Amino acid sequence: MEKKMFCPQCDRMQPVKTIQRQETFTVRDEKVDVLSELNVCSVCKEEFATTEQEEENVRKAYDEYRRDNGLLTHSEVRDVRVQYGLSQTAFSRWLGWGDVTIHRYESGSLQDSVHNEALLLLRDPRNAEKLLEMNRGNLDEASAERLERTVSARLNAEVVKLIEQDLAATLSLVAPSEFNGYRRFNVERFENLVLHVLEKTGPAYKTAVNKYLWYIDFCYYRDQTLSITGAQYLRFPHGPIPKSYDLIFAAMIEKGSLAVEEVSGKDFAGERYAPKTRANTDLFQGDELKMIDGCLAALAAKGRTARQLSDMAHEEAAYKLTKDREPISYRHAADLKLKLPAVKTRKTSGPRA
Ligand SMILES: [Zn+2]
Repeated sequence: MEKKMFCPQCDRMQPVKTIQRQETFTVRDEKVDVLSELNVCSVCKEEFATTEQEEENVRKAYDEYRRDNGLLTHSEVRDVRVQYGLSQTAFSRWLGWGDVTIHRYESGSLQDSVHNEALLLLRDPRNAEKLLEMNRGNLDEASAERLERTVSARLNAEVVKLIEQDLAATLSLVAPSEFNGYRRFNVERFENLVLHVLEKTGPAYKTAVNKYLWYIDFCYYRDQTLSITGAQYLRFPHGPIPKSYDLIFAAMIEKGSLAVEEVSGKDFAGERYAPKTRANTDLFQGDELKMIDGCLAALAAKGRTARQLSDMAHEEAAYKLTKDREPISYRHAADLKLKLPAVKTRKTSGPRA
């Protein structure tokens, strides 16, 4: 059904079609092309835009100009402010600008290049920290304290992310061998496997997650002479753990893909993980996903408490034959006691890098 709008030409409500049309605006002496939205009256063929559409079209032209000139768009300006949890007025004051300056930018006014530069710098929490030291007096005490907490949380998050990138790059440099299952470590596959496991098992203790990952990598290796994630596993008293896993989990928490809850009971305390974003299972080919799910099902059939998983892992030759704190060779996968339900998998000769 066609919608009806007020046609200024016919001077009454008429059926209209909404279309998009290339339109050229002039912004600060520069020609900018945008796809403008307007309406065509089905009776008189008059083309017209509502006030809202006109404003939106102009905003688009301004944003296009911003992109061409390295200026933040109005929503990017907003993003910078929201990251620091301040109101428009407080944010303006923090920067030492007029009270309504940020409000104007977020509503679509073009920022001057000096202000743009300041906003760009503020994307880095280290600069925010300096600015807070300098301009703390511009803010009321409550805003200043809140900002201080936000800045320090963002600094921590930044550090964790940098370390993770560094770590992932370093781990991926390790050449394929029996200790990473002849695959270079792939942090993306590792993180999405964690999320997938948690989607299947529900919230789990990290010691349990580590064992799930170990069994999955080793079961797949038993079948395909290749691991899923390229992780190296170390023999620890509580069972096998992926090397540097603590940091990767911490980075996932900072990035918002993993939730952690502290749990304490009568005789235990621990952290339980739950997924906050959906796993990207496109990273795993058909056989891999089948094997992953088969392995989880086999483990679930044996009992899924952290204790049971731990007992199971301790009985494996791979664990018994490796010295404490040493890497566990994937060669031991051949002797895994855990048997999978018969899933006929195709032998693949996937890339080994
Ligand atoms: Zn008309």
